[in-house]
Amino acid sequence: MHEEPLVDSYGRHINYLRISLTDLCNFRCIYCTPAAGFRTMPPSEYLTQQEILRFVRIAGRMGIYRVRLTGGEPLLRKDILEIVEVLKSVETVRDLSITTNGSRLKPFLEPLKKAGLDRLNISLDSMDDFRFKEITLTEAYSEVMSSVMAALEIGFPVKLNMVILKGLTPYEIIRYVSLAKEYPLDVRFLEFMPLCGTGWRPDLVLPIREVRRIVNENFSLTPLARENNVAEEFGIEGGQGKVGFIASLTESFCNDCSRIRLSADGDIQPCLFSDRQVSVKALLKKGASDAAIEEAIRYAASIKPKGNRFFDEPFTGHEKDFEKYQNTPMIRTIGG
Ligand code: SAM
Ligand code: SF4
Repeated sequence: MHEEPLVDSYGRHINYLRISLTDLCNFRCIYCTPAAGFRTMPPSEYLTQQEILRFVRIAGRMGIYRVRLTGGEPLLRKDILEIVEVLKSVETVRDLSITTNGSRLKPFLEPLKKAGLDRLNISLDSMDDFRFKEITLTEAYSEVMSSVMAALEIGFPVKLNMVILKGLTPYEIIRYVSLAKEYPLDVRFLEFMPLCGTGWRPDLVLPIREVRRIVNENFSLTPLARENNVAEEFGIEGGQGKVGFIASLTESFCNDCSRIRLSADGDIQPCLFSDRQVSVKALLKKGASDAAIEEAIRYAASIKPKGNRFFDEPFTGHEKDFEKYQNTPMIRTIGG
């Protein structure tokens, strides 16, 4: 690292970048995308591989060493393997991962490994075929599950993400954690966040404490160091994997947030819950100097809010909050 490290206005060191590669997706998860889909941007709007590479090089000199590729569905991006390969060639990128819905992952596993990908996050919202279909509006359960197993076989560290929604049964929670007991993978339960898509559904929110209670009643957990991570993580007695809880609404983790995002069309988003962003598309497209791009990144960090709407007043998930937060404004899709 050559430059001053990237620190926001509240003293948080920013070292983690999430890059959305596309806003296209082959799933229609009910908490993320309307059943009819979004109006997606034309591919000509996307940052190119070279523009992404340049951004990551500059951000790397400011201390960003963790990079996660996401979307939409990042594996729908035709040049995904080249992107992984070029980003992995950047000296400062010490940890490169992808978040995927897993449906098209299997044939990519070997090539991704060869290209240098370090880790995978696979989203699996239910281990029940029928409920999986209800949530994702697809029938890809078996493809996702077999990708998870194949990813483990090939030796990828795997995190399995589940957005917890009302209707999740204790039986299913136990199945998830049992999977992490049997295999060396990390299961992570995520609270539903009020992003756009199908809209904010406070009635669908299942507070993390309810899942944590079921897990604690059925497994013996050992807390692990949090290491500036948004997930509260635990080892499972007698098991190989870990279990994590990510409580975006009911137990805000904004104090530990170390990330910024880059949208597929070149907006730096300092916080998922804020509508402020800084566009670097024009700078990258017209070949602006490194100093100008660095300045844009520093400005984006400087406007990173202290916390989201739920930071000072967490959504408790109790009846009175449904009304209070009924009109919570939608923010944006995670991808765009
Ligand atoms: N398509 C890929 C996938 O689903 O893994 C990558 C993009 S997806 C937007 C990234 C992650 O965000 C997924 O784990 C997804 O479950 C999660 N996500 C999307 N909308 C969410 C919401 N409203 N609340 C909580 N998590 C959400
Ligand atoms: Fe697609 Fe991922 Fe959103 Fe589901 S969560 S609709 S897989 S982008």
